Amino acid sequence: MVKPHRDFGLNGGQQAGDAPPAGWLITLLRWFDNEAGVLPDDESHRQVDWLRTIPFIAMHLACLTVFWVGVSPVAVAVALGLYLLRMFAITGFYHRYFSHKAFRTSRPVQFLFALVGAAAVQRGPLWWASHHRHHHIHSDDPEDVHSPRQQGFLWSHMGWFLCRVHFRTRVELVRDWLKFPELRFLDRYDVIVPIGLAVGMFGLGELLESFQPAWGTNGLQMLVWGFVISTIVLYHATFTVNSLAHVWGRRRYATRDDSRNNAFLALITLGEGWHNNHHHYPASARQGFYWWELDATYLVLRLMALLHIVWDLKPLPAAFRDTRRSVTVPAAAEGESAR
Ligand SMILES: [Zn+2]
Ligand SMILES: [Zn+2]
Repeated sequence: MVKPHRDFGLNGGQQAGDAPPAGWLITLLRWFDNEAGVLPDDESHRQVDWLRTIPFIAMHLACLTVFWVGVSPVAVAVALGLYLLRMFAITGFYHRYFSHKAFRTSRPVQFLFALVGAAAVQRGPLWWASHHRHHHIHSDDPEDVHSPRQQGFLWSHMGWFLCRVHFRTRVELVRDWLKFPELRFLDRYDVIVPIGLAVGMFGLGELLESFQPAWGTNGLQMLVWGFVISTIVLYHATFTVNSLAHVWGRRRYATRDDSRNNAFLALITLGEGWHNNHHHYPASARQGFYWWELDATYLVLRLMALLHIVWDLKPLPAAFRDTRRSVTVPAAAEGESAR
């Protein structure tokens, strides 16, 4: 069950007084259960929570095992395929759907892509969307959760989610999704999905070693390429939208934040690098506003709309595209999403 509404530090208040006897135990439980316990500094702790961060660090160190497990074309192809699939789930669904409601879809498809998004190991869809909505409300102002202007580049890239202050899902910002118990469950126990993916990668490699030995892979090699390396590259490509896309690139629109348009970032993030466009008009399903601004996510969404998997892609009004002024538009469309 989702916990009742709490302040989550939006007003800067620290709610002390319920200090549990074993904070380290709660921190460890949070590897598996995002609603485990309450720590006294959940709303103010801005230091890296090293104990909870161990799996994140271990994933990076595990990349080094590539020197032991080696490489094969099939392992690299699986890594690339999982990068693209999970990046699309993050950009198309965690971002444009769950955060901005830029299109509609059915409840099964909604959950399917929530699952694929959770396989990106960036927490659940509600945690992700709630912090992203907060970012749009406070872009680059002192309350922004990941502003390079306010807290420095490293914080915007990966410091902000390694601290307790942003650990909790800001449920007050995703009330529209709370009626879906499957999403609440996934948001609480999202770690099940990446564990399943890692086990699946090992199993796939073992199967291929037995039945396609000529392909030169095995369980450990597929685990390292398909899960570890693919996820680490996916991590840092995604994180650039919060860090580099607010400092590197061109500003077509005079938004009140520092967001930029950057073709390289758009390429590696399947369209999210048109970040100044996006801050100018967040409700649109497309972020590349002109034909030469490649937005792979939008192209896939268009294809899915042709197949009636998604529908009601929110358009970009020409008047918003053509004005260079800063304008205020709602970050998410009103109304129902899944039917
Ligand atoms: Zn931004
Ligand atoms: Zn956004």
